[in-house]
This record gives sequence, structure tokens and C-alpha cells, in this order.
Amino acid sequence: MNLILLGPPGAGKGTQAKRLQDRYGIAQISTGDMLRAEVAAGTPVGREAKAVMEAGQLVSDDIIVRMLASRVEQPDCAKGFILDGFPRTVPQAQALDTMLAAKALKLSAVIELKVDDSALVDRIAGRFTCGSCGEGYHDSFKPTAKAGVCDACGGTTFTRRADDNRETVSARLDAYHRQTAPILPHYAALGVLHTVDGMADIDVVSAQIDSVLARVG
Ligand code: ADP
Ligand code: AMP
Repeated sequence: MNLILLGPPGAGKGTQAKRLQDRYGIAQISTGDMLRAEVAAGTPVGREAKAVMEAGQLVSDDIIVRMLASRVEQPDCAKGFILDGFPRTVPQAQALDTMLAAKALKLSAVIELKVDDSALVDRIAGRFTCGSCGEGYHDSFKPTAKAGVCDACGGTTFTRRADDNRETVSARLDAYHRQTAPILPHYAALGVLHTVDGMADIDVVSAQIDSVLARVG
């Protein structure tokens, strides 16, 4: 099963992708996580991407498409993948079409998580992640059960993203509306686009996605 989770920053793509990865044994591919790893490692790609990411703008299509092409070759993608944060522009969507056709792979579904811009700012401002296992949390909507301790691994260090501040969020939302939303009609025309109410609680969103996947097989 090959899926795309589409939606603005903070829509819940990473949260739902992790659940799908566990449930279906398919790989979550987050281009944002891959870029953050490049930045942390100080690679040439990371050095080029850092300032662009901190400004809330999009990294060049060339870099992203090259990164994605090598990632889908990895063995954990053999049963399929969930693209989280890719494609984000029309050229990226076109490059993905070409890549899938060359591998004789099909998209099972593109799931759009629809969330109001006003809710996204609060979601992003409250987001934090376990520094040990990467489990995602939210100050209000998904706190740890015990303060300061990760539910998943018991870790006690947490990180907040450099770009998760109220100033950068508006640039990121603007990039979504101007550069990413225009790819929706492409997937609607292919008959693979399914829109889900991302304003609902996390478990309700998961159930909606499950019912889409039950229909597409
Ligand atoms: P994205 O990957 O689309 O940027 P995340 O999955 O990281 O978004 O979610 C952003 C923040 O909102 C996280 O802190 C997450 O815990 C929280 N969140 C995710 N889905 C929901 C939801 N349906 N309702 C409330 N908060 C949510
Ligand atoms: P994300 O973790 O998906 O919110 O992405 C964080 C940042 O990484 C974005 O604001 C962009 O700067 C960059 N990025 C991630 N994925 C892409 C992509 N597919 N195309 C361009 N830039 C990306």
C-alpha cells in the first residue's frame, strides 16, 4: 500500500503516519525528518536547507526529489510507504508520478487532512517530541501521561522544533496555500484523493483514515 498524507503543517500527518506505519508495516517517509537529520549531521544538504527551513520556506525540488528517490529504494519500503510532507509542489508531484511509473508502483490513496489555519497555530506552538524515541506530543492535546516522561519509552528529554514558533508558522501556512494546495486537483483528477476532517480528535481521524483504506483495499 502506497499512501500520501497531505495537509498543512500541524494537520496531524506525522501523528497519523506513525499509527499507519505500526498498523500496516509500511514505512513512514517524512521529508521534514530527513532534512532535520541532514541539518543535525551538518551535511552539505543540511547546510543548504537550514536557513530555508528556519524561514518557513520550501527547500528546492531538486534536493527533495533526489532525497526521496534514494529513500524509497530502502528495504523497509518493500511493503509500501506513507509519504508525509511530500510532495509539496507541482514539480514534486510530477517527479513522484514518474518515479512510481518507473517502478510499476501505484498510489493507493492520497489522504488530505483538512484543518482550519487558526487551529494549526496552536497545534504547532504546543508540539514537542521525545528526544529518545521520537514519539510526538502536544502540551494540551496529547500530553505525556506522567509529566516529563515519555509514554512510549520512558525517556525524559524532549525537543521542540526550531521552526515551531508563531512567526515562522505564518510563512509555512502561506507556502502550503500557495505551493502545496495546487497539487490537490491533480490527485482529484486521478480519482485517488480522499478528504478527512483533521479537526476531529486524533483517534477519530485515525478511524476516518481506516475507513478510507478499507474502501480502497
Ligand atoms: P504534521 O506532521 O502534519 O505537521 P503533527 O502530527 O506533528 O502534524 O501534529 C501537530 C501537533 O498537533 C502535534 O503536537 C500533535 O500531537 C497534535 N495533533 C495531531 N493531530 C491532532 C488532532 N487531531 N487534534 C489535536 N491535536 C493533534
Ligand atoms: P515538515 O517537517 O514536513 O513540517 O517540514 C519542515 C520543513 O522542511 C518545511 O517547512 C520545509 O522547509 C522543509 N521541507 C520538508 N519537506 C519538504 C518538501 N517536500 N519540499 C520542500 N521543502 C520541504
